[in-house]
Amino acid sequence: MGTEFQNRSQNGPLPRAGRSLIERIVGEGEVGGAGSGSETWGHGDPLRRFSPIDLRPLSVVRRASVQDYRDIVDRTATAFGVWRMVPAPKRGEIVRQIGTVLRWHKRDLAEVVCREVGKTRVEAEGEVQEMIDMADFAVGLSRMLYGVTLPSERSGHRIYEQWHPLGPVGVITAFNFPLAVWAWNAFVALVCGDTVIWKPSSKAALSAVAVMKLIWPVLKRNDLPDGLLNLVVGSGPSIGEAMIHDRRIPLVSATGSVRMGRQVAAAVGNRLGRTILELGGNNAVIVTPSADLDLAVRAVAFGAIGTAGQRCTTIRRVLVHADSFDDFSASLARSYQQLRIGNPLEDGVHMGPLIDAEAVNAMQAALQQLKDQGGSIMYGGQVLSGGIFDSGTYVTPCIAEARAEMPIVREETFAPILYLIRFRTMEEAVAALKAVPQGLSSAIFTNHLLEAEAFLSAGGSDCGIANVNTGTSGAEIGGAFGGEKDSGGGREAGSDAWKAYMRRQTVTINWSRKLPLAQGIEFNVD
Ligand code: NAD
Repeated sequence: MGTEFQNRSQNGPLPRAGRSLIERIVGEGEVGGAGSGSETWGHGDPLRRFSPIDLRPLSVVRRASVQDYRDIVDRTATAFGVWRMVPAPKRGEIVRQIGTVLRWHKRDLAEVVCREVGKTRVEAEGEVQEMIDMADFAVGLSRMLYGVTLPSERSGHRIYEQWHPLGPVGVITAFNFPLAVWAWNAFVALVCGDTVIWKPSSKAALSAVAVMKLIWPVLKRNDLPDGLLNLVVGSGPSIGEAMIHDRRIPLVSATGSVRMGRQVAAAVGNRLGRTILELGGNNAVIVTPSADLDLAVRAVAFGAIGTAGQRCTTIRRVLVHADSFDDFSASLARSYQQLRIGNPLEDGVHMGPLIDAEAVNAMQAALQQLKDQGGSIMYGGQVLSGGIFDSGTYVTPCIAEARAEMPIVREETFAPILYLIRFRTMEEAVAALKAVPQGLSSAIFTNHLLEAEAFLSAGGSDCGIANVNTGTSGAEIGGAFGGEKDSGGGREAGSDAWKAYMRRQTVTINWSRKLPLAQGIEFNVD
């Protein structure tokens, strides 16, 4: 192995599975939640998975124990010693093969996501497509891990920067993008020469097991050692805490709530490790008087309702000019009325269930707070019942009228609640957009160049993402993804986000036969 790594892509494709992926996993009754390249196991508690669609049992995933976690870290540390010496383009070739397997199993994997977290089929397929796009991106990246060459002030000297693999990367993911966020991290980390230990959300453990079971054979076929791509299903307080305190993990990339991010930042920072934090959002859209209202309504409807309002980039606040407020809200309510809410496996359904009854309760509690704070519900917000809705996980998405300064508006409620807020001046709108602790995504709808430029200027949006005439969600993988303030400050996926997964080394080579010192310092000894 190591530098003798062989390219086995000429061996042809892996055989397609006869039974569907969900049958292959669920059919086993209980699956282990720990693994590092072939079998799964687990010595922790059983985690019973139920579908939010109808509360039917899906499977039992046996959680990893802390000892399982430690065994996996041993393996990944050994695998890193091998993998870091494989040339980056050859690492890219492995990611290319992984992308191919994902292409073959796009529908299968999407179905697991759909059943486990309740995304509509088209959104779940979009999530797998995002993994495929990320694989393609990482393959190209594997030939573009550029360092720069710098002019030296000393004659006969050359200075350059090179990038080396960093080590095993801990990836902690949230339930709402059970696969794509792992792919953003894992494929970039792999081409950078890192190994990956993944702790998925317990609410999406089966999706994680499914993708590992699909991908591990690629590694085996290429004679790669166990430990490159690892899985540890377990709770935040046990496995998550073990990972964030583990000095063998130089980088922890964590996606989830702000509360979780603070814990991760404190623990990893205390041992002077690195973090990439992708945390909650509270994303706003400004609709100015010059905006194309039809375009804005369509974008806001998708941005607020997609994934049942459970995206970090979900539109939560719309700042609408007072003169167009009534037209905008009436038109938005009309488009909400046309929604099909139901079983997300069925074609044509726009919105499936929330992840669980707890999320429904949190939504109801937020609506009560809204009313207590002087806001009003303009549309929806009910818990649905009857038939499949008796699961207690389905709601009608809500449009509410609110004011920017209400405490509930400053919070991220992970549910389809959209706050409409009136404004009079552009300054007032931008100030309201920024008056929340989070800073993930933002957008303006305008046909006025000056408004768009003011929004994009240094005094405008304070978010990691700022869009014009398109919504806040649905980012492409080519850009660096992440937010500011309480949204964490991390960047993942495209652009130069790869630099966080490598260590930079500045190299000075003296090819003269003298020893000039920098800054003109003289130090003469015989
Ligand atoms: P969560 O914070 O409850 O859990 C996220 C992950 O963190 C889980 O794997 C959980 O087990 C783990 N975790 C919790 N406590 C931990 C600890 N002390 N140490 C280590 N790991 C710990 O979030 P969730 O409910 O699964 O997801 C919803 C949240 O995630 C929302 O706030 C949403 O905005 C955010 N999110 C952000 C992004 C982004 O890219 N910015 C993407 C998706 C979701």
